[in-house]
Amino acid sequence: MLTILRDITMAVAAADDFATALSLLVSQTKKAMQTQCCSLYLLEEQQLVLSATDGLAPQAVGKVKMPLTQGLVGLVAQREEPINLADAHQHPRFKIFEEASEESYCSFLAVPIIHQKQILGVLVVQQIQQRQFSESEEAFLMTLAAQLAMAVRAQRKKKVVSQTQAQMLYHGTKAASGVVIGHALVLGGEIDIVQPSKRSEDTDGELALLAKALKSCKETISSISQRFDREQEVEIQSIFSALLLLLEDSSLGGEYRQEVLQGWTAVSAVSQVSLKYINQFMQMDDAYLKERASDIRELGQRVLRELIEPQRINLQLDVPVVLVTKEATATMLAEFPRHKLVGIVTETGGVNSHAAILARAMGVPAVIGVEGVLNAGLDGKQVIVNADRGQLLVSPTETMVGEYRSLISAQRALADEFAKELPLPAQTCDGKRIHLYLNAGLLSSLSSEIAEGADGIGLYRTEIPFMLQSRFPSEAEQVDVYRQVLQAAESRPVVMRTLDVGGDKPLPYFPISEENPFLGWRGIRLSLDHPELFLVQLRAMLQASQSSDQLHILLPMVSSLDEIDQALAYLEQAYQELRLDLGLDIQRPKVGIMLEVPALLYQLAQVAAKVDYVSVGSNDLTQYLLAVDRNNPRVSTLYDCYHPGILRALQRARQDCHTYDLPISVCGELAGEPIGVILLVAMGYDQLSMNQGSLAKINYLLRRVSTTDLTELLSIALSLSNGGQVKQLVTQYFADKGLDSFLVS
Ligand code: PEP
Ligand code: MG
Repeated sequence: MLTILRDITMAVAAADDFATALSLLVSQTKKAMQTQCCSLYLLEEQQLVLSATDGLAPQAVGKVKMPLTQGLVGLVAQREEPINLADAHQHPRFKIFEEASEESYCSFLAVPIIHQKQILGVLVVQQIQQRQFSESEEAFLMTLAAQLAMAVRAQRKKKVVSQTQAQMLYHGTKAASGVVIGHALVLGGEIDIVQPSKRSEDTDGELALLAKALKSCKETISSISQRFDREQEVEIQSIFSALLLLLEDSSLGGEYRQEVLQGWTAVSAVSQVSLKYINQFMQMDDAYLKERASDIRELGQRVLRELIEPQRINLQLDVPVVLVTKEATATMLAEFPRHKLVGIVTETGGVNSHAAILARAMGVPAVIGVEGVLNAGLDGKQVIVNADRGQLLVSPTETMVGEYRSLISAQRALADEFAKELPLPAQTCDGKRIHLYLNAGLLSSLSSEIAEGADGIGLYRTEIPFMLQSRFPSEAEQVDVYRQVLQAAESRPVVMRTLDVGGDKPLPYFPISEENPFLGWRGIRLSLDHPELFLVQLRAMLQASQSSDQLHILLPMVSSLDEIDQALAYLEQAYQELRLDLGLDIQRPKVGIMLEVPALLYQLAQVAAKVDYVSVGSNDLTQYLLAVDRNNPRVSTLYDCYHPGILRALQRARQDCHTYDLPISVCGELAGEPIGVILLVAMGYDQLSMNQGSLAKINYLLRRVSTTDLTELLSIALSLSNGGQVKQLVTQYFADKGLDSFLVS
């Protein structure tokens, strides 16, 4: 049963076009259920349209349509539950559609297809003789419909705009705003084991490439196999060990080498050797040995990916590139040559994942959750990313490109208008000064970023330079990086956060495998468990800063007062070592913690006695207060920073900090969103840290609002029942104030 379900769903997902997918679905379901008719109705503009059938008149497809209030199919969609009838003709909602030639069928079983609360359609099976479909048949159809929902939605999302031009429009969710035109570079898609046979004169160069690819493959396979080190998973682990053995010199690894020595490129060598063995294994009678062909293919594809993809990233492309991939990781983006990357499109990921934050920090428009793009043959095609609308347009016409170029210039003109005011202070109409800081982490762009009008760096994420290395950076290397950051800020304050890896920010050379990474070994927890790493980082920060008063140290993911005490003790140790052992004259930095773990919201009095300031990490605070994984697209609509409960928590934190005389700022993404800024300033927050891309816009906005208006707005917002209403309220305020440029932010 499981195999049948999987086969049907996979066939639908893999079909080249929507019509083929649907006809496969109905014919395979009819066969699997051994019935005489299977039909699919899809919801289009509030009508259920017969979209595929195997059993009704084929010419009725697209013609039979009914609103939800009509027919049995309408009833299934209306009630969102199955209907199973021995004789459908007896039901009061039975409706005959002449053109469908449906009269002969008596028994009727229909189930709704629902994706994330949305009804997509109804799947129906029918039979001539009167009989009730069995419970297990009903359960099978329900399971199939639940599994199909995703595949049907993905297929529907790639709408053909024009058949002749093969323009396709995909939909996803905005992760970083903006509109760009570029060419798709697909990474992580299916790698074809058949590669062109090419010779190379540079045998040594090709051998080196092969060795590097093999090494990297071995490392990946070993790290995957480490996840299966428990005893009951010995069998799984042995599969990985076998793959590793195959990569050795005495096995396929050596054969790849031999081919390169014969003058072939590394890519051709791997392809040729793989194909030779795949063919040999496939011809064997023994089923077990036949299966081994897939191991050889998988291994070959892994090595080919290592050979092909890094080279493609580093190509001196003369066109701007839109990265299309399954899930962009922060590491992948940090490594990508920055000037070449103009847009990002991913199949999965969350709006506040670190990759999305990095995209915003880089000012690169990004759309996430675009299902089905990875293997849609987009590589090299011209694409338009309209992140503001969550769209990806493939192979646009000249006219469309022209229109988008005009839109891009209009957006540039608006950005220029914002930028003109950046040298002026961020001060509301009634004179309240708000300090705006920069969230940073990408050293290459730092000097120009900080020059452009921030009051300092409010969050320097030190994990980014760690991600760019193939091992932990040494103390001297860290001193060098931190010194450059402090220098770039000139004399302005710099908040440097200690290493915050874990969660969705793994270090390639320090793999952490956990079932619940966001509730696991993250931030300060990891640093305190590895004092040798933590002390090196603290010493490096102190040495970089020495006698200046710029440095502020920030501790991430603190969940208990003990952690603060331990971290402060290590800081004191690092300070004393540098002073006494090296005789350095060092100023003690201010120390703060990130408010990300809800429990700490209730201990601010004690926190105030231990540290100099707190900074609200609203990205994590939201995830933990709402119990919604910030990375999981399935629950992304629930991840809502404007949830009135979150707003109340933020307001209370501000009030308590005021009572305990503890400076507080916000450095999560909320602090760079126009609606968020309005609410935060209304609560009394006057230190906000944001990405470079938000700075000028927020400065411009603040200069046009008054705190009296905002206080009123906040009291209404807090009384509303959900985040959508809060957003609507503030949007209406922008409209009333003529702040039209903030209506779509
Ligand atoms: C946050 O959680 O709001 C934050 C700023 O930290 P990060 O996004 O790096 O987890
Ligand atoms: Mg955080």
